[in-house]
Amino acid sequence: MIDVPPFLSKPSRKDFLRGAAIAALLPLLPRISRAEAERIGVLEIAPGIFVHVGKYQLVNETNRGDISNPCCIVGSSAVAVIDTSGSFAMGSDLHTAILQITDKPIRYVINTHMHPDHVMGNAAFQAAGTEFVGHYKLPAALYARKESYLTNARERLGEASFKGTEIIPPTVLVKDGLELDLGNRVLTLKARPTAHTDNDLTIFDHPTGTFFLGDLLFSGHIPTLDGSIVGWIKLMPELMQEKADRAVPGHGPKSMPWPDAILPVQRYLTVLATDVRGMIKEGKTIEDAVATAGQSERGKWALFDEHHPRNVTAAFTELEWE
Ligand SMILES: [Zn+2]
Repeated sequence: MIDVPPFLSKPSRKDFLRGAAIAALLPLLPRISRAEAERIGVLEIAPGIFVHVGKYQLVNETNRGDISNPCCIVGSSAVAVIDTSGSFAMGSDLHTAILQITDKPIRYVINTHMHPDHVMGNAAFQAAGTEFVGHYKLPAALYARKESYLTNARERLGEASFKGTEIIPPTVLVKDGLELDLGNRVLTLKARPTAHTDNDLTIFDHPTGTFFLGDLLFSGHIPTLDGSIVGWIKLMPELMQEKADRAVPGHGPKSMPWPDAILPVQRYLTVLATDVRGMIKEGKTIEDAVATAGQSERGKWALFDEHHPRNVTAAFTELEWE
């Protein structure tokens, strides 16, 4: 009997359907070469899916807010952009790059959540026929933080990159789920319960099995907590059940295997919650917690000192009311 290597085994019905869906897309896909895409700063990770990889840095004048991973998905009749980076200048560059990739209209700009490094480039995509899509709680979240987000962005980005930056709220809201058809390419959007923020949205591209998680998935760059640590940990198993071939993090490499990609995030949050709960039980203060909780994660993440203290503070404030 001959052992059949796994890659030669009979394709599943799912593989067959995905293969057929990709074959249907191929004649319509962008003509740009991989090398050319790379030159303009976007990497093709699957047919018709391009990701720009942001830097593991805090926003500053030099990086122009280029610290997260905006993406674009090309269908046979339309394009969806997922997140727009951290400034009008970055959004404009991204828009220019997409115009080189495809002549299909950008019908949707999807924001995965409220954070400035994901939404501040929105204004560069304003056009007739372009809808902005977000979680149903995104408008209120943006409205509440508008002034501070704009003031901070101007200060950190400097006038040149900030110029033109506006808060553009969504025109299409996702309450539970929503399907968007780009032509031979259906995306499923899901509004998630409070986790990284209270307005996290995920996007699933069916033809390629690509799962876009925004900041529900970090890799390399330390996760940041601005929603609920309990909610985020609780959401993990549900996210892990998505039958994806690859995942795109909000911060991290262009593409990762799923669900293994999220295991380090699960470990970090679980360690943080366990340490903080223990300290609350022992009557320790928030300052004690900031000094010691989660320190076993030091060295495993970029920007640990920049974000970890705030994560501990957020976790402590949430967990002391349990
Ligand atoms: Zn975020």
